[in-house]
Amino acid sequence: MLVEHDAPLAPLTTLRLGGPARRLVTATTDAEVIATVREADEAGEPLLVIGGGSNLVIGDAGFDGTVLRIATGGFELDGATLELAAGEVWADAVARTVDKGLAGIEFLAGIPGSAGATPVQNVGAYGQEVASSITEVVAYDRAAGETVTLSGAECAFSYRHSRFKEQPDRYVVLRVRFALEDAAGQSSPVKYAEVAKTLGVEAEQRVDLRTAYEAVLRLRAGKGMVLDPADHDTWSAGSFFTNPILTADQLAAFRARLDGRTAPAYPAPDGCTKTSAAWLIDQAGFGKGWGSGPATLSTKHTLALTNRGGATTEDLLALARAIRDGVRDAFGVELVNEPVMVGVSL
Ligand SMILES: Cc1cc2nc3c(=O)[nH]c(=O)nc-3n(C[C@H](O)[C@H](O)[C@H](O)COP(=O)(O)OP(=O)(O)OC[C@H]3O[C@@H](n4cnc5c(N)ncnc54)[C@H](O)[C@@H]3O)c2cc1C
Repeated sequence: MLVEHDAPLAPLTTLRLGGPARRLVTATTDAEVIATVREADEAGEPLLVIGGGSNLVIGDAGFDGTVLRIATGGFELDGATLELAAGEVWADAVARTVDKGLAGIEFLAGIPGSAGATPVQNVGAYGQEVASSITEVVAYDRAAGETVTLSGAECAFSYRHSRFKEQPDRYVVLRVRFALEDAAGQSSPVKYAEVAKTLGVEAEQRVDLRTAYEAVLRLRAGKGMVLDPADHDTWSAGSFFTNPILTADQLAAFRARLDGRTAPAYPAPDGCTKTSAAWLIDQAGFGKGWGSGPATLSTKHTLALTNRGGATTEDLLALARAIRDGVRDAFGVELVNEPVMVGVSL
């Protein structure tokens, strides 16, 4: 276990933003994770748990408390059942499952961050979400002071949401268990139109597993969604805003402001409709690369807010507020940030 004081947090985030932590603990075993959490809770010390820092916006003032960086390791495969330690690098774990010929998380290739964070916002991309393969999450429950095992259903997954995000200070994820599928070298059924088009197949068809995996990596890289330290378009937290989910009334009000344009619309639970944050941002006048300061939109994707080098968190937030307000003025739709804000808000 490594303990540092007044430690810079910016290098631990993909945005490279944020001030220092009063104390930074890097834990490499579950026992160290639990001991650090217990110690902080008993002392009434503020605690921030981080993995790969790829979904975090940390304020310029940093974090006045203990930051616990989870760096535990463990990739255990038993048939098609996979258990990952929270600190495993997610993208590497996906690559290993594809090497083993197992389907189930192949469309989540190239997503930065740790395995332990994937249930937190129910990580998803290209028509797949971890909710569909997670069977159990082992977590330290800070309210009960004990380790618990939650079933997939108990995780209460929904679009970019879960029980862990609902109660952010309660659970520290230690291990995640997945039921993968041995589909004889085939992928899961293709769900996402862009992937189907790239692969030249119909939706719901299965394709060669590695072909699917590599196609997703190529699509992601083209949008700056695979980390590359040399490419500022990837100095981001991925999608900065979630896709808005509109009730029937909200949808009618939104459509009334479209002036003949057709906005993307996908069915969502409870009779709601999901539209595209990227489309809204673009149509409100914020094209790729928009912005003149050290924080701008990615030149490859309107949904990624990026640090061009030398930005502060306040620069990034000013950009985010301009976009959120512009979309509200143009369409009456309120964009909500996807990354977790630490010590700041939009
Ligand atoms: C270029 C890029 C592309 C991305 N593409 C996608 C995408 O396609 N789909 C998608 O869903 N996301 C995407 N993201 C967002 C991000 O990668 C995911 O949310 C990822 O799961 C975050 O993992 P992390 O370890 O970096 O979490 P962190 O950023 O370190 O933490 C995020 C949140 O999770 C909490 N947390 C982290 N670990 C634990 C733990 N073990 N127990 C409890 N809480 C924990 C933190 O406290 C914090 O609230 C992208 C990000 C980037 C930079």
